[in-house]
Amino acid sequence: MKNSTENSVSDSSTELDVAIVGAGPAGAAAALALGGRGLRIGVIEKGVPPRHKTCGGGVLRRAAALLPLDLSAVVERECHAAELVHHGPHLRFRCDRDRPIVTMVMRDRFDHLLIDAAEKKGAQIFPNTTVLDVSPEEDGARLTTSAGQFRARFVIAADGANSVVARKTGRPELRGIVPALECEVTLAPEAMAAWRDTARFDFGVVPAGYAWVFPKRNHLSIGVLTTRRGAANLPEYYRRYLDLLGIGEPLREERHGYIIPCRPRAGVFGARRVLFVGDAAGLADPVLAEGITAGILSGQLAARAILAGDFSETAVKRHYRAALRREWLGELRVARRLAWLLYDCPRLRARLLTRHGQRLTELIARIVTGETSYAAAVTRPANYLKFFRRTG
Ligand SMILES: Cc1cc2nc3c(=O)[nH]c(=O)nc-3n(C[C@H](O)[C@H](O)[C@H](O)COP(=O)(O)OP(=O)(O)OC[C@H]3O[C@@H](n4cnc5c(N)ncnc54)[C@H](O)[C@@H]3O)c2cc1C
Repeated sequence: MKNSTENSVSDSSTELDVAIVGAGPAGAAAALALGGRGLRIGVIEKGVPPRHKTCGGGVLRRAAALLPLDLSAVVERECHAAELVHHGPHLRFRCDRDRPIVTMVMRDRFDHLLIDAAEKKGAQIFPNTTVLDVSPEEDGARLTTSAGQFRARFVIAADGANSVVARKTGRPELRGIVPALECEVTLAPEAMAAWRDTARFDFGVVPAGYAWVFPKRNHLSIGVLTTRRGAANLPEYYRRYLDLLGIGEPLREERHGYIIPCRPRAGVFGARRVLFVGDAAGLADPVLAEGITAGILSGQLAARAILAGDFSETAVKRHYRAALRREWLGELRVARRLAWLLYDCPRLRARLLTRHGQRLTELIARIVTGETSYAAAVTRPANYLKFFRRTG
C-alpha cells in the first residue's frame, strides 16, 4: 500500500487510467474486475484499511457468489437458517438451507480482504487520502485530494452514501435514506449459545422498519432501522428490542449509526467521466436495506463498462446504463413495491403474513440466496405477488 500523509498536498499529479474513490465493497469489486490487464488502477481511500465500517456484516449468499474470492478467512459465522418474526399479530417463520443463507463478517476484515485481493491484482491503494474535489478535463477528470492531485481517464465513485464525488459533480441529493443503528453486543458465553446459527429479522417493533440479530463469533450484531427518515427514536426502539429479546445488561456494547440509501440517485449517469456505484449511487435493496450485493455488482458492472467501452465517454456510459438497468434497476423496482407493502402498509403486511407468511419467507430466502430474483418471482403467473409486476 502506498503511504501518504493526510493534508500533505504536493504539486505533482498521479496519472491513472481509472481512479476508484472508496475502498468499500463497491470500490474493491471494481478494482478487482479491472485488475490484471496492465491498466493503472488507483483506489483512493480516506481511511487506512482495515478501517471500521458501521454495518450488520451480513453478506447474503447472492453477494458472496459474485466474488471470485475465498471468504473463509473472514467468516465469523455462517447462518444456514433465517427467522422472520412478526409482532402484532405474533407470527414466526423460519427457513433452513444446506448452504449458508447469509455469511456473517466484520466489515473491517471483509473489506480489507477484498482490497488486498485487488492490490494483488495490480491496483495501487492510496490510503489516508481524502478526495476533496473533482473536475472534468479533456478526456478525463482531475481529483484534488488531501495528498495531492490525481488525473484519471475515468473515475468510479464508490465513496458511499455521503459521496463527495456526487456533491462536487452537482448530483442531486440521495432519496430513500434509511437511518440504521447497529450495536455490537457481547453476552455471557452461555447466553450466546441460543443465537449461534440463525439470522433473525423482527417486523412490527420499529415503525416502518425492522430489527435484527446477527450472530458473530463472540458477540451479536443487534440493530434497528426505519424507512421513515427522522421519524423514529432508534436508540429507544433498540432498547425496547433488547427487552423483547430478553437480553438484560450486555457485558459489552458498542453502538454506531449511519444511513443506507435505498433509492437510485437521480442524475447518476450524468457526470462526465464518472460512474457512480454502490451507496454513492443509492443502490441498496429496499426490502432489507442491504447494500453489499448492489455494491459488488455495480462495481463490477462499472469496471466491465469501462473495458467494453474502451474509455470512450459515450460508449462506457451506454454500457454501464444498459448493464445496471438489466441486472439491478429492474430488481429494485419490484423490491420497492415489496418494501412499500412491508413498511408502509402494516395491516396489509399482517394479513399477507398471516395467510402466506411461510411462503413469503421462503421466497425472500430464495431471492437473497440468488436462487431466484424479485423480477423472476413476480413474473411467475401463479405467484401471489404478481400484482407487484407493474413497473414504475
Ligand atoms: C447500520 C447498518 C447496517 C448495515 N447492515 C448491512 C448488512 O448486514 N448487509 C448488507 O449487505 N448491507 C448492510 N448495510 C449497508 C452496507 O453497509 C452498505 O450498503 C455498503 O457498505 C455499501 O458499500 P459501498 O462500497 O458502496 O460504500 P462503503 O462501504 O460506505 O464504502 C465507501 C468507502 O469510501 C470511503 N470514502 C468516503 N468518502 C471518501 C473520500 N472523500 N475520499 C476517499 N475515500 C472516501 C470510505 O472511507 C469507505 O471506505 C448496513 C448499513 C448500515 C448503516
